[in-house]
Amino acid sequence: MNTIIKSAIGEKMDCLTGVRAIMKDITETLTARSNVINLSAGNPVILPEVAALWKRCTRELVSSSSFDEVLCRYGSSQGYEPFIEALVGWFNENYKWDIKKENVVITPGSQMLYFIAANVFGGYTTDNRFRRIVLPLCPEYTGYEGVVLDKRMLKTFKPIIEERSSHEFKYLANIGENLVDENTGAVIFSRPCNPTGNIVSDKEVEIIVSQASSKGVPVFIDSAYAPPFPSMVYDEFENMKPAFGGNIVHCMSMSKAGMPGERVGIAIGAPEYISSIEAFQSNANIHSSRFGQAIAAKAIASGELAEVSKSVIAPYYRAKADCIKKALHREMGDVPWSLHKGEGGIFAWLWLKNLPITDVQLYHDLKAQNLIVVPGSTFFPGFNENWDHKGECIRVSLTATEEAIEEGVRVLARVADAVYNAGSQSKIMKNCKSADCHLALR
Ligand code: PLP
Repeated sequence: MNTIIKSAIGEKMDCLTGVRAIMKDITETLTARSNVINLSAGNPVILPEVAALWKRCTRELVSSSSFDEVLCRYGSSQGYEPFIEALVGWFNENYKWDIKKENVVITPGSQMLYFIAANVFGGYTTDNRFRRIVLPLCPEYTGYEGVVLDKRMLKTFKPIIEERSSHEFKYLANIGENLVDENTGAVIFSRPCNPTGNIVSDKEVEIIVSQASSKGVPVFIDSAYAPPFPSMVYDEFENMKPAFGGNIVHCMSMSKAGMPGERVGIAIGAPEYISSIEAFQSNANIHSSRFGQAIAAKAIASGELAEVSKSVIAPYYRAKADCIKKALHREMGDVPWSLHKGEGGIFAWLWLKNLPITDVQLYHDLKAQNLIVVPGSTFFPGFNENWDHKGECIRVSLTATEEAIEEGVRVLARVADAVYNAGSQSKIMKNCKSADCHLALR
């Protein structure tokens, strides 16, 4: 065996964060047992109408004269021109934005976009000042923990919990606090949020953006689940418009619109931000693969992607969000539960108040009963304060069938009931930190 001496960056990037750290355990369980209810998945469901659209666009591309160009040539680091043109046209026409080609850059998936953004704007400046990436509230997308090259780069704020009724709550950004200061390099948040389904309100966005603007800091709004595609938003958010302008970089992904395998991420913002991302990308990976961009260009330009998002994708996940809410009300009995208000996305976020064991222990207890969910403590990237709430939540995927969700909730109710009845004896690992490289899995 060779001795490996790694750089600090090598060590950091060797450490799997968040959900990826428990993925091995989940995969082993799913491989070993056939009767598991899997409510952990982050992959979007393959919806027939969406898959049919991608197949049709692929056939059109393959039989067109541009196919050879797409596949057999290098291209621009900014992205495939017809894709960028389709995006510019769509946003200008539908949202009356006044963007041009130089406002857009395409990356191989939006994860790479956040990696580039975090390391262009965060870390040491040439005059040796350390600038941090601010997450204005948590829980947040665990992937942000993986994109910084130095763990200290993330600065995450505790939210305010608004209890809306006995079984529903919502996280609010603590906008009364100074979220941004002279040591901030960039701000990032997901809207809708993975894992909670929260949509940070327009007012909260306005205040975060104005705090950042006063310090000359860009705000990356991760719209992986937002309109216009895939448009996984519900109720009063159905006509939600993306926030844009000034220091906002509107970030999108084609993954939840049914193309995670093709790795297409999109950033739209002021040219000075976009050109820095493009230059980083040129150095790191030359450019994104063009195939996915070429088929997406067709679906966007024709308006079909926006249409299928609204008429198929959004109602599908909305029905699942309703399904879990009803099942919880039906099954949970005396268990003190509260569900985050489901505003969008593909997950439900459940808080089990004063849970006598940790969320990781609960994960194991549920796994023993053939139910897999994701322990909530993995979703606090960069938030290292002790806070009991971190160990009292779980993320439930809405990608499973309604039957699986209902059966999963029945198992959860049974296990949670037993846990609360057994009391706090086994509460041994509260405050387990999401930033730890290896979760305390037994
Ligand atoms: N942002 C959020 C909120 C996500 O949930 C995900 C993936 O699950 C990503 C970004 C990364 O998506 P991709 O790299 O596939 O575009």
